[in-house]
Formats: sequence, structure tokens, C-alpha cells
Amino acid sequence: MEDIVERAARDLMNSKYAIALTGAGMSTESGIPDFRGPDGLWTKHPELEFQAYRMYDEFKVNPKAYWEERLNPEGWIWSFFEGLKKGVKPNPGHYALAELEQMGILKCVITQNVDELHQEAGNRNVIEYHGGLSKFRCDSCGRRFHRDKIDLERLKREDKLPPYCDCGGAIKDDGVFFGEPIPGDVLQNSQQEAWGCDLMLICGTSAVVYPFASLPELARTRRSGRQTTRDLDLYAIQHVPSTVIIEVNAEPTPLTKSGISDYIIQGKTGEILPRIVQEVRRLRGLR
Ligand code: NAD
Repeated sequence: MEDIVERAARDLMNSKYAIALTGAGMSTESGIPDFRGPDGLWTKHPELEFQAYRMYDEFKVNPKAYWEERLNPEGWIWSFFEGLKKGVKPNPGHYALAELEQMGILKCVITQNVDELHQEAGNRNVIEYHGGLSKFRCDSCGRRFHRDKIDLERLKREDKLPPYCDCGGAIKDDGVFFGEPIPGDVLQNSQQEAWGCDLMLICGTSAVVYPFASLPELARTRRSGRQTTRDLDLYAIQHVPSTVIIEVNAEPTPLTKSGISDYIIQGKTGEILPRIVQEVRRLRGLR
């Protein structure tokens, strides 16, 4: 284990533009269940997964009914959005990624999490691929609103749900529902980051939710390294993949099995990431 932790630390130190991709596994040690891990929400309550898949279509058809259910404290949507962060704090894994950014090594975090714990831990450049809990978003024009700017309880009392944007579109949670397109700005910025990075550190994601899971594939196809071989009459230029892809996850994922990632460090992000940072500090001290 020490060898592979040191390898990751060295790879990070040798990188010019490292980014992290994170998923729900990053926050389980903060007390937020993931969806598909052994204690995941879907694993324990498969019926909720089915309901979640229908949510966006239902919102499109009847946004008023969505908001009425969303504001019902007995409902699971309410407990997901309102209960998710109650008393929750970033864990050592979040702080490790923040420290890598402060060291100048990590340039960006692209997270699937809506819990905003990366920002709370200190990361400045965070792309929220599936939105953030403290925001709402117009489903038509994509404009975002801080949640404090919309008084949902008043709208409910006055029977004026759903909230509407100036453009006339219905406003929803910023969190991206299943079947909902990823907002264009987010899609573009993350593709740019994935294409431009030379190291991708993928933490706590089962990598089965698309299009997020296509970002490592995009990074893998980036080939800028050229290796020239000359052997007698044979002169060949080989294009060598130039992005290092490292996974830190409790279990192997499709990225591990398909060889998209170069290697996996299997274990808890809250334990492994701080060890990688500690190793970077040690190696920097040796320089
Ligand atoms: P997922 O539930 O599909 O997969 C989580 C992965 O992390 C699993 O492979 C699991 O084994 C692993 N894992 C769990 N705890 C870990 C730990 N401590 N250390 C290392 N690995 C650990 O999650 P996903 O891939 O992020 O996809 C699910 C979707 O659910 C995402 O779109 C995300 O938006 C959403 N979600 C977000 C939150 C949150 O904001 N915290 C919570 C639940 C779900």
C-alpha cells in the first residue's frame, strides 16, 4: 500500500495540470450515504431509485406538484434536499483535496456531489456537475438563484408554486435530476478540464452515471506524448497516452476493469487522500 501511495504522490508532483473527479463516496465518511455502495440509498431502498428516475418528467409536466411534494417534510425529496447536510462537515478526504489545491498541484475539482463540502473544506475551483444544494435554477434559461432569494414557504402559503424566473420558465432545484440534461456551461467547462488535464484523480465514484463517467474516457483519449522508435529500417512514431488516471475507491469500478484508469488505490478516501498529501509533503521536503 505504501508503494502505491508514494506512486500517486510522485505522479501528482510530476503533473502540470491535475484535476480531481469526485462522487458520493467522498462524503460517506461525513455521514451522507451514497447511492450504490453497500449502505447506499438505492441499495437499501430500490423503490426510491425508481421514483428518482421519474422526477424530471414529473417536474416538466407539473412543476407545482413537484414543489408541493418537495416541501412536504414527510417526503423523501424533502429529506434528501433539506436533511442531507444537517450537522455534516467535510472529512479528511475533502481537506486533503483542498490542501492539494493550496499546494498548487490540484487545479480543479469536478464533483457529482451536491453537498458543497469541497467548497467548505477550502477548494476554490469547483465545478458542480450535478448542481449544488444552496441554489435553484430556471429550467428554461438556466439562470441560477441562491436559495435565500426565493421564499418557498410564502409561495406555498399563497398557493403560488412553482417559483418562476423572469423569462417565464419554472424554477427547480439546481441538483440535476435523472434524465435532465447537464447545464451547458457545466458540460463545456468540465470537458475542457478533462481534455486539458495531465492527471485525473478519481475519488469515491462508481463511475456509472453518464455523461460524468465519460470524462475519464475523454482524458484517456488525449494523446500528446510521441515516442519515436528506430530499429534498423523501421521508423515508427507511437502516440502514448499522456494522462495519468488514478482511482481512489472502496471497490473496483468499470474504469478499473476497462483499463481506463492506470491504477486504483482501494480503500476509504478519508484515509487514503490524507496519506497521499502527507507523502507529497515528505517528498517535497526531500527535494
Ligand atoms: P455512487 O453511489 O454510485 O458510488 C459511490 C462509490 O463510492 C461506490 O463505488 C462506493 O463503493 C464508493 N465509496 C463509498 N464510500 C467510500 C469511501 N469512504 N471511500 C472510497 N470509496 C467509497 O455515487 P456516484 O458515483 O457519485 O453517483 C451517484 C449520484 O448520486 C451522483 O450523481 C451524485 O450527484 C449523487 N449523490 C450525491 C451525494 C452527495 O452530494 N453527497 C450523495 C448521494 C448521491
